[in-house]
This record gives sequence, C-alpha cells and structure tokens, in this order.
Amino acid sequence: MRWEKTLISRFILDLFYPNRCPCCDCFINWKDNLCEYCMDKLEIINQEICSKCGKIPCVCDNGISFDKVYACYYYAETAAEGIISLKKGNNLNYGNHIGEQLARLLKENEDLLKLDLVVPVPMSKKKIRQRGYNQAEVIARIISDKTGIPYSNKILTRKHTDIEQHSLSAEDRKMNISQYDINEVDLSDMRILLCDDVLTTGSTAKRCSDLLKARGAKTVIVLVGTTTKLKI
Ligand SMILES: [Zn+2]
Ligand SMILES: [Zn+2]
Repeated sequence: MRWEKTLISRFILDLFYPNRCPCCDCFINWKDNLCEYCMDKLEIINQEICSKCGKIPCVCDNGISFDKVYACYYYAETAAEGIISLKKGNNLNYGNHIGEQLARLLKENEDLLKLDLVVPVPMSKKKIRQRGYNQAEVIARIISDKTGIPYSNKILTRKHTDIEQHSLSAEDRKMNISQYDINEVDLSDMRILLCDDVLTTGSTAKRCSDLLKARGAKTVIVLVGTTTKLKI
C-alpha cells in the first residue's frame, strides 16, 4: 500500500519538479530511478568479492561478526554519483533503485525471504532532520515493502557526531563506531538483514552486527548498495 502511495506522490511531484537521474542529472520519466545510459554504466558485482565480508581482497581475518554480504555494485563513477546525490539529500532515486535491486536479489533466494527483520544502519536524529531522511532507511523500507519481511528502525541507535565516518582513516573509524548503540530488545534466535548504502571498511557493519548478536540475533546478513574495492 505504501508503495502505491509513493507512486502517486512521485507522479504528482514530477509535475512540479521534473524527475532527474541521480547519477548524471538528466531528465527521466517520473516512474524511473535512473536513465538507461547510467544503468548500463553501473559496475555490477560479480562473484569475485568474498561472500562473507563483501570485499576484494577478503578482510575476514580482521574479525567480522556478520555472516554474509550481498552488494549490488562497486563504488565507482556512476554508482558513486548516485550515492553522493543520495547523501546530499536531494534525490531519493538511487536509494529506491538499490532497494529494488536488493529486494530482487532476496526474491531469487527463498531462504533469504524467510528472514525475520530488516534493520537499517542508524543515523542520528539531528542528521536525519538536516538531510530529511536516513538513506539506509530508504533502502530498508523498500526491501521490506517488496519482500514482506518486517522492518524496524527502533532497534539500533546512533548518537550525533559532526564527524563523517567516510572522512576518517580506517583506524579512526574503529574508534568512531562507539556512536552506534542498541535499545533493550530481545532478538533471540532472529535472523536479521542489516541495510546500508555503502560498505567501506566494514567497521560500521561489524559494530552493528556485534550489537545485534549481543541481543541474541542468530544471523546477521548485510545488504548494501555498493562496496568499495580495497587498495592492495
Ligand atoms: Zn543518468
Ligand atoms: Zn572475506
């Protein structure tokens, strides 16, 4: 139902603010998320990333606590433009696109559709007010709408900090993740899908997964729109 409402509001919005491609800014049909040119340019992830940590080369030795990663694209040119426009808070199309792609991926694997909960990586309330939304929530809600797996943004929390996680060195990121926390919830034996827009070093996903597992979660599967290639 929410999805139908979104379609109607998108149609009406397009009359006043014509829909644009989040990657190249050209005008596109009100129903589309990306233009065809950019769709073709997105670098789809093949089998070479490690299925457990989501990286090339594998970083499993760093002690990750999540069980598997599914990612759509490599973080490069077109995908990076999409993520930047999503983070700037002026174009939700790329978040919609990623949500739809990840939902499609889940539907191809019946086992994944039996998971218990879709949870977004949290953003502080202050940041949500500034940006208008949490992009991980945009992605997680679409996945929930399209697959029927329940959604909750009331489990993980994040304190406000003016420091951007992506601007930090790998070492500083590990320190900064203490901003993430979890509410008093019982997740005993639950299998959880954790959603985010980008997987960089994996330290945020690891922290969130640690918190979910400390509350009893049996499995944490990370779903991300893009993963960066690590420099060797
Ligand atoms: Zn485009
Ligand atoms: Zn690995």
